[in-house]
Amino acid sequence: MQCPHCSSLCMEADLSCFRCGRSLPRGSLTPTRIANWTGAIFAILMFVFLVTVAIPRMEGSPPNDFMSIVANDIAMNMANYVFLFGAWFAGWVIGRVVGVVVCRAG
Ligand SMILES: [Zn+2]
Repeated sequence: MQCPHCSSLCMEADLSCFRCGRSLPRGSLTPTRIANWTGAIFAILMFVFLVTVAIPRMEGSPPNDFMSIVANDIAMNMANYVFLFGAWFAGWVIGRVVGVVVCRAG
């Protein structure tokens, strides 16, 4: 593997770079993997928030005709996907920034 700090080639098993002495990122702790995890966690938290808080409040006055129910469902689903994607993206960006800082400091 290549050292992210000085770009010299190191052994896969090495804990630190032989040339610059800084620690190498381990398999479980790369910025991308941290970003993927935080993104997933943010999306799950947003999903829980939508199911427990947001959706019950939006269902104030239930529509009574079929087309309104369908339109309402489509609008709610689209809003949910936008919120979920937004949360996932925000979490991914935060995780990516944190991951870069953590891996650089480690
Ligand atoms: Zn190095």
